Amino acid sequence: MQDIAKNLNEVKDRIASASRRSGRRPEDITLVAVTKTVDIPRIQEALAAGVTDIGENYIQESIDKWLAIGTGVKWHFIGHLQRNKAKNAVEIFDLIQSVDNLPLVEEIGKRATAAGKTQDILIEVNVSEEAAKFGAHVSEALDMVSQVSEIEGIRVLGLMGMAPFLDNPEDTRPYFAKLKEIWDRLPTEQRWYLSMGMTQDFEIAIEEGSNMIRIGTAIFGPRQL
Ligand SMILES: *Cc1c(COP(=O)(O)O)cnc(C)c1O
Repeated sequence: MQDIAKNLNEVKDRIASASRRSGRRPEDITLVAVTKTVDIPRIQEALAAGVTDIGENYIQESIDKWLAIGTGVKWHFIGHLQRNKAKNAVEIFDLIQSVDNLPLVEEIGKRATAAGKTQDILIEVNVSEEAAKFGAHVSEALDMVSQVSEIEGIRVLGLMGMAPFLDNPEDTRPYFAKLKEIWDRLPTEQRWYLSMGMTQDFEIAIEEGSNMIRIGTAIFGPRQL
């Protein structure tokens, strides 16, 4: 069994070192604990150990967990969102990080407006430019942010991205630098979150300017599928 509290402390120490190396304060980096496939008791253990933000990939799984865990924690959606699940996503999530096309944003905006909510989102950018990955194309990301900013019920708070899986995590650096470069060109009011970095590469992501990391395996152990 994984010792979740111990794992969490180790991750926090590594965040602190990486942020100091890059001249920032550890408290400026938001840690999102990624709980896909993690059962409710283990999530509650993480919450008791100090986790404040959780990230989920699948709507159905999120509904069950949300009913059990409730709103005492910040909910992040980080999976691929189908338009017909936008209504559920708006009900549950504080921040929908994985938004990459205009029709989806329009649907989210419509659902949020109907619910009397302003939905915070990030635009996902496909910095690795792999065809199989989701995300707005690098060359279209800034345009998408400005188009999306016009839509009622939506507030864009930054960008999210993923480096490709590479044997040497050090090789992910240029991808994170690329996303930071795009983020730096956003209007100030949209430059809240730069969500990049996972278990295998979060220290490099922080060194390259990330202020929100999404960590599953390093906290909960390998996922059983
Ligand atoms: C699963 C997932 C993570 C967490 O991955 P780990 O390698 O387990 O830390 C982060 N971001 C996204 C988008 C994911 O799907």
